[in-house]
Amino acid sequence: MILPIVPFGNPRLRRPTVDVAPDYPNLKELIANMYETMYAADGVGLAAPQIDLSLRLAVVGFRPYDEKTDTYGPVTEEHTLINPEILEYGDEKEFFNEGCLSVPDIHEDVLRPKTVKVRYMDADFVEHVETFDGLLARVAQHEIDHLNGKVFVDRLSPLRRTMLKRRLNDISAGKVNVKYKLKRSK
Ligand code: ZN
Repeated sequence: MILPIVPFGNPRLRRPTVDVAPDYPNLKELIANMYETMYAADGVGLAAPQIDLSLRLAVVGFRPYDEKTDTYGPVTEEHTLINPEILEYGDEKEFFNEGCLSVPDIHEDVLRPKTVKVRYMDADFVEHVETFDGLLARVAQHEIDHLNGKVFVDRLSPLRRTMLKRRLNDISAGKVNVKYKLKRSK
């Protein structure tokens, strides 16, 4: 089931989140819905606050994109992150152009560590401690930010944010056209 996505400006994105309990009702179904919602919106990551659940849960999934045909290949990598926690940040940082399903049509370079050591549970509640790099490190940090009430534009310079202010206000006011469903009510 495809779920509506909470847009920037909605206070639901800023709420504190709680750990997911192993007996959380219909957890597998919720996770499947999150992947479905993410892929339907052409996203690579989705965090529970973006579907209006204040839970420490996020999904990440990658598919190759073919520009010529404007289609996606089969999924190559998926990670369900339950109760994730960043244990260590790598020393090296880099800029990467980020976007967010809650912040449609805005893409900005964000500086983050290139690697992160993360502890998390998978969908079967098996604990993992892994060092992520590349795109996975980037998306995991972006999603874990969501679990802490943070959106990627919070990490931009004050000048950059000022320049984006009008467009961010438009998103907050619902004045945005996207092909996926946004949650309009606060
Ligand atoms: Zn996001």
